[in-house]
Amino acid sequence: MKWVKAHIGIEGNETADKLAKEAAQGNENIIIAFDRIPITSVASEINRKGLEQLQLQWNNAGAGAVCRSFFPYLVQRLKMNIPITPEFTALGTGHGKPRSYLHRFKLADDTMCLCNERQQTSDHIISDCNLFEAQRGPMINKIEDSEESWPPAKHELTTKYLHAFSIFVKSIDFQKLNRLVKYLELWCQVPTKRTSSE
Ligand SMILES: [Zn+2]
Repeated sequence: MKWVKAHIGIEGNETADKLAKEAAQGNENIIIAFDRIPITSVASEINRKGLEQLQLQWNNAGAGAVCRSFFPYLVQRLKMNIPITPEFTALGTGHGKPRSYLHRFKLADDTMCLCNERQQTSDHIISDCNLFEAQRGPMINKIEDSEESWPPAKHELTTKYLHAFSIFVKSIDFQKLNRLVKYLELWCQVPTKRTSSE
């Protein structure tokens, strides 16, 4: 195969041009002389269809609402390189570490955050818990520097502002937080017990 100049009367090239034009115009009388498809095209088509179906299932799934708000588009997620840690998973799914989740499995006495203002959900930790005000500051600055208002849509935290969000997530120490909760619970129980024994 070699390159030839177009439209200068080279017979083979003129025929190819004519046939290509007819095929593009949907001429059904054209006899298809070549019907083999490269295996890479088949693979990429299967991949595309599979992802389309998966996206539909993801859109309509009953569970996973928190995770879906962070990752609404599967194609986009597959292209992303995210520094996944247990804390990232906990905040991105609302599962595993926040007290609202632990309480569902009787692993925490209640759902209340240590700040005592709201339930400890991943949304609360990210958006408005005053215990994380200092760590949240640089993330808010970054977003406001881009002339957007805080808080942005969740999926923007995992795309456009992923770097700032990852630094914030890294600063959340659930173990320390839960140890502090345990300590406070014990500390609050001591005087109660003493009073009841008197
Ligand atoms: Zn809080």
